[in-house]
Amino acid sequence: MYDYHTHTSFSDDSSTPMSDMIDAACKAGLKEVAITDHFDPDYPDKAYPFELDFENYHKALIDAIEANKSRITIRKGVEIGIQHGSTMERCIECAHSFDYDFIIGSFHCAEGYELYGNSYFSGRTPEESYIAYYTYVLENLKKYKDYDVIGHLNIIDRYTDKMADPASYMEIVAEIIKLIIADGKGLEINTSSFRYGLGDRTTPAQEMLQLYKEYGGEIMTIGSDAHRPKDIGFKIDYAQKMMRDLGFRYLTTFEQRKPIFIKL
Ligand SMILES: [Zn+2]
Ligand SMILES: [Zn+2]
Repeated sequence: MYDYHTHTSFSDDSSTPMSDMIDAACKAGLKEVAITDHFDPDYPDKAYPFELDFENYHKALIDAIEANKSRITIRKGVEIGIQHGSTMERCIECAHSFDYDFIIGSFHCAEGYELYGNSYFSGRTPEESYIAYYTYVLENLKKYKDYDVIGHLNIIDRYTDKMADPASYMEIVAEIIKLIIADGKGLEINTSSFRYGLGDRTTPAQEMLQLYKEYGGEIMTIGSDAHRPKDIGFKIDYAQKMMRDLGFRYLTTFEQRKPIFIKL
């Protein structure tokens, strides 16, 4: 098994030392783990700056690879929180600052607001919020290319108590998916949706995965988005089955930013 989205105490929202995460990955029987701590510059909530201590992070990754090479493959990853304007410059700089194996491009914010909490949704209908969110993602991805997969594409579903009708925004999602494929990038299946109690609403949603398949998308990673040891490897088997059921034939891992296709 391969878990391609995990956090350690280098992320502001995790208190798990990297060594504990790696021990948990070994215990869960993983063959490979990508450590993808947060770099989310200019995050609106100043209590969670999501700045990354790059120097120590990079050193910890290199040391962890060496110390654990006989028991697990560790990939040097990062989850970059994409935003517009000068923030994007910082995202680009981060992506080029180190020889990462794997970069998740994620949207935790849109239009200067964090998606977490109610601020993004207040004063407009769910449809208006969703259209604004996906338009924001599309416009940013026309400019930002320093990522390998888009993390939790429909993260907006996680933070609202009233989801919009997909018919209102799927045209924009289709444009996003086409762009991701045209740029040679991929999508991740993020199994945290099962922890958040979203039920059948997977991340990405089934209709998005179907579109991705239909348009010829093949690059797909699976990640638990674990911030604690107990969540590592969570439901990855299930996500693999879901991929097979949707007709995908390969799962993707990364080394030196290059996709490696593994038969499902
Ligand atoms: Zn994320
Ligand atoms: Zn994450």
